[in-house]
Amino acid sequence: MSRVLVGVKRVIDYAVKVRVKPDKTGVVTEGVKHSMNPFDEIAVEEAIKLKEKKIATEVIAVSVGPTQSQEVIRTALAMGADRGVHVEVSGKDYDLLQPIHVSKILAKLALDEKADLVILGKQAIDDDSNQTAQMTAAVLDWPQGTFCNKVEKTDAGLTITREIDGGLEVIKTKIPAVLSADLRLNTPRYATLPNIMKAKKKPLKKITPKDLGVDTAPRIEVVSVEEPPVRQAGAVVPDVDTLVGKLKEGGHI
Ligand code: AMP
Repeated sequence: MSRVLVGVKRVIDYAVKVRVKPDKTGVVTEGVKHSMNPFDEIAVEEAIKLKEKKIATEVIAVSVGPTQSQEVIRTALAMGADRGVHVEVSGKDYDLLQPIHVSKILAKLALDEKADLVILGKQAIDDDSNQTAQMTAAVLDWPQGTFCNKVEKTDAGLTITREIDGGLEVIKTKIPAVLSADLRLNTPRYATLPNIMKAKKKPLKKITPKDLGVDTAPRIEVVSVEEPPVRQAGAVVPDVDTLVGKLKEGGHI
């Protein structure tokens, strides 16, 4: 196996309380802390581990998004990726960018870079789509191993343990393939200060979807974004009989 392509998306940090814009066109992103999508940290870690085990020779981190996306590429480089590709999409175009567009971009890059493996997160915590890995595999016509819990290289390809409802499933696949990282695949390493400094010197190429021949024209229009309904305050009842009485009163039982 030679190259592994990893998708790293810049998303609003998981610890931030997301606010909807007053005009309901989206969520507030200005002045809000952003980080690498947590599942992508796991994808990067897995790719680096493959390199450390001498199964892969090069790890390429790709981010599609505005200029600031380069920050998460640098984080991936500081963790141990070899080089980065920033596919610039910004402003309204980025607001309306969908998993199918990202999938076509990643698929084209995988072919151009002669990658054997594409590792993505199982889902981006901002759009919660859980579509990009599956669609990238479809565009490439490569096998997919989604929700990976364990990945082992064998002579014939890969043995993958997948997280499924209520258990684990083990599958075998040939490479090239597309994988998506689940939470328990590994524990991502922290970038150390010396590695953050070294990452600044690693190559980072900037291109556009047009350079790859990918059309990112929006296929959707955002009609409205709403806050979730505010939960009504609860009430404390002294005993079970009162609780049952209140539930009957409200027509719940
Ligand atoms: P999603 O299908 O949107 O839930 O995203 C699943 C995974 O696809 C993410 O965890 C990333 O690895 C990858 N991905 C999605 N969007 C992007 C992006 N804009 N740039 C790089 N990778 C992305």
